[in-house]
Amino acid sequence: MNNRIAFVTGASRGIGKACAQALSAAGARVVLAARNREKLEEVAAEIRAAGREAFVVELDLASPDSIKAAFAAAAKEAGPVTILVNNAGITKDGLALRMKKDDWDVVLNTNLSGSFLAIQQVLHGMMRERWGRIINISSVVGEMGNVGQANYVASKAGLIGLTKALALEMSSRNITVNAVAPGFIETEMTGVLSEEIKTALVARIPLKRMGSAQDVAAAVTFLAGEEAGYITGHVLDVNGGMHM
Ligand code: NAP
Repeated sequence: MNNRIAFVTGASRGIGKACAQALSAAGARVVLAARNREKLEEVAAEIRAAGREAFVVELDLASPDSIKAAFAAAAKEAGPVTILVNNAGITKDGLALRMKKDDWDVVLNTNLSGSFLAIQQVLHGMMRERWGRIINISSVVGEMGNVGQANYVASKAGLIGLTKALALEMSSRNITVNAVAPGFIETEMTGVLSEEIKTALVARIPLKRMGSAQDVAAAVTFLAGEEAGYITGHVLDVNGGMHM
């Protein structure tokens, strides 16, 4: 990946951490971003121990000021970001009938608006470089819906729309914009589900297992690479066949 600078949101654990590790292994210099600096430093230490470069910036996607500050810090410390992985995301589940506006707002602000504002921070630099890769982590539920997740599903479906609109706007600049839609992946986010629910979910997955963070990271690394230069506006499913 030619020492390109890859900015990964939510890189402190789960899918984001796996993406940062995979992009680093593929030759990128990675900027690790999330709220918890201590956790990010642990991931950075692992990457540096493997002889690669990693930078840490604190980022709260729910705060537009924090987003600006994080990208300014990344540009100063690492250089121009040409790969952005919008991975960080949260859930605040509940039936729509009783969903509090605060729970709606924080999920949309973090997952969708935060990703959009992050994209705005990197577009000028990518246009100057005449090369860019933006990868938005959506979800299978953004494609098929899910009970109790109106806010999360809206945010993830919104990311797919954002991906397609931006792919068109950026196509003349050699900047590709794609989404990856994971199915059920073993991370802290799904760690809260009971064994009973997990067993029922796995029964619905043709490949008969939950995915790993590395399964998702492999798709992200492919889309970030030189070889994927003719793919834009695409939604790549990494879901074991549960939705086609
Ligand atoms: P996770 O284990 O809960 O990790 C979430 C990451 O996002 C953490 O690094 C967290 O770090 C960061 N984050 C949360 N809120 C943030 C904020 N306001 N600002 C900046 N960073 C924030 O989640 P995951 O399972 O790896 O999921 C990663 C992405 O994949 C999410 O967008 C999720 O919706 C999507 N996804 C996951 C699954 C699944 O089955 N796991 C399926 C489909 C899609 P801090 O708390 O330190 O900020």
